[in-house]
Amino acid sequence: MTLTVVGSVAFDNIRTPSASRENILGGSATFAAFAASFFSPVQMVGVVGGDWLPEHTELLKGRGIDTEGIEVVKEGKTFRWTGKYLDNMNDRETIDTQLNVLSDFKPKLPKSYRQTKYLFLGNGTPSSGLETLDQIDGADLVVADTMDLWINIARVDLEQLMRRIDGLVLNDSEAKLLTGETNTITAGRRILDYGLTFVVVKKGEHGAVFLSRDEIYAIPAFPTENVIDPTGAGDSFAGGMFGYIASQNGKITPETIKNGLVYGTLIASFCVEGFSVEQFQKIDRNAIEERRKKFKQIASF
Ligand code: AMP
Repeated sequence: MTLTVVGSVAFDNIRTPSASRENILGGSATFAAFAASFFSPVQMVGVVGGDWLPEHTELLKGRGIDTEGIEVVKEGKTFRWTGKYLDNMNDRETIDTQLNVLSDFKPKLPKSYRQTKYLFLGNGTPSSGLETLDQIDGADLVVADTMDLWINIARVDLEQLMRRIDGLVLNDSEAKLLTGETNTITAGRRILDYGLTFVVVKKGEHGAVFLSRDEIYAIPAFPTENVIDPTGAGDSFAGGMFGYIASQNGKITPETIKNGLVYGTLIASFCVEGFSVEQFQKIDRNAIEERRKKFKQIASF
């Protein structure tokens, strides 16, 4: 079943201790859509500026992503983000954020997207998430990602959004910031109190924890030594997980959740092995299944 992905589309400048790249394709919607496309059809909603080139659209279409929902504001510039990774390749600093066309982005869903059953709201302003929800005719499953910026500057909108969605994906530090709790599980439970069905707390290289009222599952990250650029790992994890769940008709059963966590983890491990989406252009479902076998050996006991 088709998954609709809404979020940022970006040109990123990335600095790691060993290499740097300028103006590479990024953004929450880009990573999530690429990741999900290995499991289900994807339609993407975002905004770009006049600096967006046909080759960027072709890159997305190359993975079968429906790009009708990407609005081009010719007189504007695409959102730009500059990030610098510390020596541990896990912690990063935001050096610069230029919202550009994202600053007054009002998502416009093409008519054909409005019946969508599965909606992923990638990292973006909570108000754009609310505006998206107002345009769909009711979905079976809506999941959103968020970040510290929105917890700090748009908390009221974020809380409103949390009351209208089924699942929230966020980093460990963000879950703690949102709730004031210091324990991940307690923070997750407090977030569920907003009326969510589930919360997924991402812990970077330490994996992720899934929480619902009745279940807790923890999954380690796939141990990879070849970390080139961690940008987009979180969005890829969420996109891969939700893409898999959408391919299973949105069923939230222990089996689909666990498999979703596994596929999200595997897709994120490929993401970090290159800059931007370059690894996603090199792999196919077979490569993912091969890595799944290795992961099973490593993680089962
Ligand atoms: P991740 O590493 O999964 O947290 O995602 C990194 C991506 O998020 C980069 O490609 C950025 O372009 C994008 N990003 C960074 N800051 C923001 C923001 N404030 N709003 C939306 N997207 C952002």
